[in-house]
Amino acid sequence: MKNRILAKSWLAPFLSLFLLGLASCSQQLPFGPVNMMVIQPVGPGCQYEIGTVSLQTIENISELRGLLGRVVSNPNDLESDPNILQMGLGFQSLDLRLSGAQNSFAPLDKNSLLGVSLYYAIEKGHFLFKNLDPAADLLSVVSNMKETLLVQNAILKNNSDAKDFYSDNAAYVQVPGNEGPRNYFLHFPNEGITSLPLGFNSGVLVHEYAHMVVQYLFHNKRSEAGKTLSTSSENTLAAFEEGFADYFAFLATNDPGFFHCSFPGNGSGGRDLSHRKTLTPTEVTSIKTGIDFDSHDGGSVWASVQYQIGESIGHQENGRSLIRFINNLASCSGLASAQASINFDVLRNCHLQALGSAYGSRAQQLYQGAFGAAGGF
Ligand SMILES: [Zn+2]
Repeated sequence: MKNRILAKSWLAPFLSLFLLGLASCSQQLPFGPVNMMVIQPVGPGCQYEIGTVSLQTIENISELRGLLGRVVSNPNDLESDPNILQMGLGFQSLDLRLSGAQNSFAPLDKNSLLGVSLYYAIEKGHFLFKNLDPAADLLSVVSNMKETLLVQNAILKNNSDAKDFYSDNAAYVQVPGNEGPRNYFLHFPNEGITSLPLGFNSGVLVHEYAHMVVQYLFHNKRSEAGKTLSTSSENTLAAFEEGFADYFAFLATNDPGFFHCSFPGNGSGGRDLSHRKTLTPTEVTSIKTGIDFDSHDGGSVWASVQYQIGESIGHQENGRSLIRFINNLASCSGLASAQASINFDVLRNCHLQALGSAYGSRAQQLYQGAFGAAGGF
């Protein structure tokens, strides 16, 4: 084993020289940052427009590759061979068709527009978190961020026994690989959506990016004991995480109804953050027992409280407090060192601690109104 490590360190200088040589031969390729025409959100009420954005982290536009990862496709079911996700094998560059020159481009077909939109949304999530708090800059936290794959129209069975494949959805997935964890953003094919296709809904993709932030700033800091929690504790964490992701999706789009731009009529404003919600006794029971549990239900209550806190104290201030909260949650909840019991009370108290005394009492009232009535605490 020692010999293998030595051999690697001998190889490294030659490898980097070789790569430097390659780079100098490919000066004709457009490198970032680049200006790109995308479909972008411009405010509440599902307002989108086509406009130019600067993709600041792109390194190679023809491969849609940059500091945050690479947009790819894969013609196979991602679980048909374990090497696909564990080793990142079999992924292909998109057949990208762009018009433009130098550093300004526009996609020429829907497939290309979708590809650039996926990268744009992930970059939007990256700068949202980084600008609120440098501690949430995943480029400093994730050593292999560039290897993240953004899979366009991924093919994945939604149940190992079923013939059905995921569609009209998106996911963040971390897979243990031979050389450490591999990160994926999966965009599934659009089949039933007739309004805003998912790949153009940057709120949905920033929601997935927020899951990656939670993975690195919280889950990775849980101790081994803190990884085997009770059903009730795990369900509470899952619900809060969905709400956390929805709140940052709102911050990115400035549209509390971002979800319903792609899923209109999905419940009566069920995921619209500006609709006030309270945890119901049925939801409390399903969180505690796991029966009929859907993490998005409790999550939408948590997100609506965050929206109300943000309306009261300022959304930037609340967003910053939530990054402090998530960054400190493993130690605040006791999960950094031991197995603890997590309920909404623990989460509220950790958030109030991150908010500080200036805003704590207002936030406490809002939490109480949404979670206290049904015995959520
Ligand atoms: Zn989610």
